[in-house]
Amino acid sequence: MAIEQLATDILDGAALRADFPVFDRAHRSGQPLTFLDSAASAPKPRAVIEAVADAYGHHYANVHRGIYELSEDATARFEAARKAVAGFIGAPSDREVVFVRNATEGINLVAYSWGRTNIGPGDLILSTEMEHHANLVPWQQLAAESGATIEYVGITDDGHLDLDDLQLKLARGPRLLAVGHVSNALGTINPIEEISAMAHAAGAIVVLDAAQSVPHMPVDVVRLGIDFLALSGHKMLGPSGIGALWGRRELLEAMPPFMTGGSMISKVTLAGTTWAEVPLKFEAGTPAIAEAIGLHAAIDYLDAIGMENVRAHERFLFQHAWDALSAAPGVRLLGPASPDEHAAVISFVLDGVHPHDVATVFDGHGVAVRAGHHCAQPVMARYDLPATTRASFYVYNGLEDVERLLAAIRATRTLFGVG
Ligand code: PMP
Repeated sequence: MAIEQLATDILDGAALRADFPVFDRAHRSGQPLTFLDSAASAPKPRAVIEAVADAYGHHYANVHRGIYELSEDATARFEAARKAVAGFIGAPSDREVVFVRNATEGINLVAYSWGRTNIGPGDLILSTEMEHHANLVPWQQLAAESGATIEYVGITDDGHLDLDDLQLKLARGPRLLAVGHVSNALGTINPIEEISAMAHAAGAIVVLDAAQSVPHMPVDVVRLGIDFLALSGHKMLGPSGIGALWGRRELLEAMPPFMTGGSMISKVTLAGTTWAEVPLKFEAGTPAIAEAIGLHAAIDYLDAIGMENVRAHERFLFQHAWDALSAAPGVRLLGPASPDEHAAVISFVLDGVHPHDVATVFDGHGVAVRAGHHCAQPVMARYDLPATTRASFYVYNGLEDVERLLAAIRATRTLFGVG
């Protein structure tokens, strides 16, 4: 799309910044903070911080067990948070939403519970070269322990999943495809509806790592046609320590527990134990109560903005940043060029400067970016790079942040004598 067609932004990132106390703090550079590392973890708006404080201050007791008002209050708020998560991702029922600590735990839950029940010697598991380690290592472990084989769908030079390779590998009848919605290392948005349809036609279930999509775009589990989805609260303005796994109910019901102990049982005798209904079957022990309530506040905050607006704003910022970086000397960009296929996560290499040095110099200008392998070492290997620098955008960013990113690049090139 031509840049003129993107002349207006839908959100005022600078105005939204006022909702986030972290932007009030002074940066040691003396510059305002340009925060471009939301793909790692996002700052929290006041509404979330206050919701957590209020939960601990006025509504806190253990959930699902107390027969007294305060515990019923805490339980009602905890369960309302589950409903909010279900609504946010289009889940047909809140009984299909399991609270976990983060996306990593959600994926591990599926790998242990579904995987160790359904995968055996000689079976094929498919993952992709594009995955975050969280959606790769658990499947490697499952393959190693079960005697299954694991294979990886390749990536094209321009950062797409290779769908021809996917088709070839699906023809060999894998039981499961583990795929990410948005790559945290390349920014690629994968065509999940199409991929799910292909996987299901081949008899595989689809586990979606949605850690980088749910915070940034409308996501509907039914429309995507997937079987499991994992998300992290901390990347979507919510607290850390809370995430969710969604799964199709019949799959969750047929799965054994992941962890056992209190809260997840129906009846325990010394002779044996029966399990609670889903989702409690998967929630052993005391959960992250106030954090779930904080996640609910984050969802309310994002819903008030509107996820279509979040996506449009980030698309706008992506397009400006991509065009400017493409024109900047010495910058090599990774991932697809089209804003329809690329989230506002831009991974790049500055010729002649190591990404860690780039991030250090940027910090001196108040620009916070991530440098490294982004927990996606196979992606780095695919492009023969040790690391990249990554700038990722969210609701509180604006064009001024793109400008400051460009100024930091110019300053870095000058400092290292490569500009
Ligand atoms: N998947 C992707 C694509 C991610 O970017 C991340 C976080 N960097 C994760 C999974 C893991 O998230 P968490 O550490 O919150 O479990």
